[in-house]
Amino acid sequence: MSDEKDKRAPLTRLAQAGRRAEWVGVPGQPGGIVSPPVWRASTILYDDVAHLRSATTNTHEQLFYGRKGTPTAWSLADALTEMEPGAEGTMLFPSGVAAIGCALMAVLRPGDQLLMVDAAYDPTRNFCEQVLKPFGVETLYYDPCVGAGIAEFITENTRAIFLESPGSLTFEVQDVPAIVAAAQARGVVTLIDNTWATPLFLPALSLGVDISILACTKYIVGHSDVMMGSVTANAALFPKIRQMAYLFGQMTSPDDAWLAARGLRTLGVRLAQHQASALMIASWLDAQPDVARVLHPALPDCPGHDLWARDFEGSSGLFSFVLKGGDEKARAALIDGLAHFGIGYSWGGFESLALPVDPARYRSATRWEAEGPVVRLSIGLEDPADLIADLEAGLARFRAVRG
Ligand SMILES: *Cc1c(COP(=O)(O)O)cnc(C)c1O
Repeated sequence: MSDEKDKRAPLTRLAQAGRRAEWVGVPGQPGGIVSPPVWRASTILYDDVAHLRSATTNTHEQLFYGRKGTPTAWSLADALTEMEPGAEGTMLFPSGVAAIGCALMAVLRPGDQLLMVDAAYDPTRNFCEQVLKPFGVETLYYDPCVGAGIAEFITENTRAIFLESPGSLTFEVQDVPAIVAAAQARGVVTLIDNTWATPLFLPALSLGVDISILACTKYIVGHSDVMMGSVTANAALFPKIRQMAYLFGQMTSPDDAWLAARGLRTLGVRLAQHQASALMIASWLDAQPDVARVLHPALPDCPGHDLWARDFEGSSGLFSFVLKGGDEKARAALIDGLAHFGIGYSWGGFESLALPVDPARYRSATRWEAEGPVVRLSIGLEDPADLIADLEAGLARFRAVRG
């Protein structure tokens, strides 16, 4: 990438990224089209045997075999790379979980130890316990607030440190630069699940992280209709990621890549609105007598708030709140009657969601203690005043059951 290109602001890059002339140009005609179209292919034909032989020498970003992708997916991958200053390349996966698993397989070998943040997304933990462990990789879970103290956990066998910041249920913000410094001092690889912030709000590779993973399913796609994951890595590790993705035969359909690329173009404006609405609603919740705590990195009482203010460019639309007292039934009364919030897991779309979450179940290194049950909200693009009125009625239902 040229220096001139590097100076572009992130929103400008979002509009321009991945639109290489060879992917949007029409052969024999000047100009071109704006968005790379859907190229569907399994078989690639060759003119003759010599052409077939020469094509096998460089099979990246060249039509070679459908599984290696077509310009639709390459364009999206290229755009995601451009969004992460310091990145060498990006591989796409059929889900966020597939991306996490493949990135871990690319850097770990039997006998290695992995340090995993205790607030990690539950399926990430499952991958460690049910795939890595039988293959001889030990996982040690660490407190998300460990900061520079991570150095004490690093042993001879530690090969990688996995971060998720903030945690997607409880929203502790990690000290990314301190953990990266400790890792680099011992030659340990760092990976981050950057789904909450996206590279727009946390340019992770600029902070020294080696590998940035996104569940594109969430904010990149943004419309709750495609499953996809991505792994973006620096020059040292990208070849390993690409190799592992090829070995596992991982890819995305061109139709899904095209939808994700369409979502990516509006990521900036969507995140700006998610941020503004979520902040308004989180602040309102924080002032309600039935709410014990709001777990939102941009609010001062969230663990790691100062780190968020130092390292992040913004906050997205996903946060939780802790109710004051009450039980499962009282929480269900709040959630069940909501008119504008769907009840569902996969977040990051234009529609708002509410979810009962029980963080204590997914921890081993730390304990989750709270004043009452927890509700996680994904704030969509509706008018925030409607959402607040809906939550106000929900809190009245909660009170009625709690007593
Ligand atoms: C949803 C999610 C994933 C997994 O993504 P899928 O595309 O659903 O497999 C990973 N990490 C976080 C933080 C998530 O919220």
